[in-house]
Amino acid sequence: MPIRTTTVPSTLGSEESKPAELETPGSAQPQTSSSAGSAPAASGPIVRVLRPRRAAPAEAARATRAEINLAHVRHNYRELCSWITQASASGRTAEIWPVLKADGYGHGARALATTLERADAPGLCVSLLEEGIELRGAGVRGPILVMGGYYGRYRDGIEALVNHRLTPVVYDADQLQDIATALRYLRFDKRFGVHLKIDTGMGRLGVTDDELGTVLQTFRNCAELELAGLMTHLACADAPSLADTEGQLQVFDRATDNVRRAGFAPTVRHAANSAAMLRLPTAHFEMVRPGIAVFGVHPCPDHHSRQTPRPKLKPVMRVLTEVVALRDLPVGARIGYGYQWKAARPSRIATIPMGYADGLHRGLAGRGHVLIGGRRAPIVGAVSMDLTMVDVTDFEGVAVRDEVVVLGDQRGRFGQDTITADEIATYSGSISWEVLTSISRRVPRFYREP
Ligand SMILES: *Cc1c(COP(=O)(O)O)cnc(C)c1O
Repeated sequence: MPIRTTTVPSTLGSEESKPAELETPGSAQPQTSSSAGSAPAASGPIVRVLRPRRAAPAEAARATRAEINLAHVRHNYRELCSWITQASASGRTAEIWPVLKADGYGHGARALATTLERADAPGLCVSLLEEGIELRGAGVRGPILVMGGYYGRYRDGIEALVNHRLTPVVYDADQLQDIATALRYLRFDKRFGVHLKIDTGMGRLGVTDDELGTVLQTFRNCAELELAGLMTHLACADAPSLADTEGQLQVFDRATDNVRRAGFAPTVRHAANSAAMLRLPTAHFEMVRPGIAVFGVHPCPDHHSRQTPRPKLKPVMRVLTEVVALRDLPVGARIGYGYQWKAARPSRIATIPMGYADGLHRGLAGRGHVLIGGRRAPIVGAVSMDLTMVDVTDFEGVAVRDEVVVLGDQRGRFGQDTITADEIATYSGSISWEVLTSISRRVPRFYREP
């Protein structure tokens, strides 16, 4: 059977308004390591990248859109770099590998990856094999760590991993066997580095104390594998107290000792997400994996204690739309599904073309706001699938086509204000991570300042 490499159709250029230079000709071809002994074949893909087609800016009639400010991504990355240099007491500074899982937290992984690679990010992290392949398709050349640790039920997933030079996180002996088998099959002639995940308390993925011996024995039996990194994931790095996190780090240190005593010398260790990176320099090790902070959102909005440093981060995403309809209602008029809101005074109501199917959470009804002219207008009535109403009674001269900001800042004739992802998360009983990743594929992303 011929070895088939996975190819990802490159549709970025037609889908997203980015300058042509971000998409270089040929960059859609995965970079196949020649030492893998395989050439990219023309036959069809085996592992497909699920990339639901997102509304393209050029095709969008509706004004609802997300603006992704790439200059802010660069700023945040550099800010975190200089911050971590100061924070590392030892003089040795951890590398920052930004996490671009879930389509770069909804910002568009491809454009972000290109931007971060140009800003000299030494590596990137994703969750899925498919996400790693997508970034190779976008022309990313540097190391990509696939953290989710799941490569499919069949060998082709692991072959795709190897052929795309993705670095897998592994957490059990069977995976190691499968990777070793695939490497032999591909006649891969170098040692293939993998990162071993240790479960230090998250209870999700990772090798437990009991399993470590078996896993290390498997590494010994599979000469083609190299235990290049050790990692863990922290459950409570954003909690007010860091005691649980310190407990996890102790478990991680013990596991590291056991690994080293068994004769292995992993060159990197990593544990820190954004919160641990900012709050706990002892969690830095050789590299850190911030996600949310790179997108300009602080992982711990609530604690302003000395324990939580605040580098100057700039939110990368703004979500905008515009007024499409206005109506004047008498006292007592009710609006929206379930008639959840009733006019207590003669009211002017504006309708915006964005609803929960776009990622505007239903929990915002009666609580959240949008910005019009730089001032807050309350969301009234139920948020429906495609449309939402806001009370603009006090907004003199509001007209159809006026810009409405759902997430981000706005300056206008009434003032200046900002709706943060944290604010939306509070009203919707969620977290900023979910607010960002919920902006759906129906909302086209426009890239600014590439
Ligand atoms: C998502 C994720 C991160 C990044 O977390 P943030 O809180 O967004 O910084 C780091 N490591 C792993 C394993 C993750 O899944």
